[in-house]
Amino acid sequence: MSNRTFTMIKPDATSKGHTGAILDQIIKAGFSVKAMKWIHLTTAQAGEFYAVHKERPFYGELVEFMCSGPIVAAILEKENAVADFRTLIGATNFKDAAEGTIRKKYATSIGENAVHGSDSDENAKIEGDFFFSGLERF
Ligand code: GDP
Repeated sequence: MSNRTFTMIKPDATSKGHTGAILDQIIKAGFSVKAMKWIHLTTAQAGEFYAVHKERPFYGELVEFMCSGPIVAAILEKENAVADFRTLIGATNFKDAAEGTIRKKYATSIGENAVHGSDSDENAKIEGDFFFSGLERF
């Protein structure tokens, strides 16, 4: 069990002005921010980040969406961070997400689902390292 996870507030949520409310919900759930940046990904960067999904039919759509506007990327800390954050954001498809979860509140489709949350300790480390240098995390 690790105490860190990685998140992105996706372009659908930043463009609709939900960034503040989402960060507030994350912090009130007990996560503390260890690194954070506001960034507009290039196609190459989003393609590399989601390379694990390259063979999936929605890969092109996902990469295009993630480059459609700025995102907020962050490393978060809390006991049992990966699992607790996945609970906080809810299921990939907002229609299946529990009431009160971030995706239930802010997602509008299976693709445009407001937030990313790492699915394992190993991926949390890989994803955090993709966005942040040692000087940018605390
Ligand atoms: P997650 O771990 O809950 O984010 O879900 P996945 O790892 O399965 O998928 C990664 C991301 O791809 C999701 O968060 C969605 O933004 C997107 N995605 C997943 N399934 C679909 C789909 O069927 N269509 C589209 N357009 N995007 C999808």
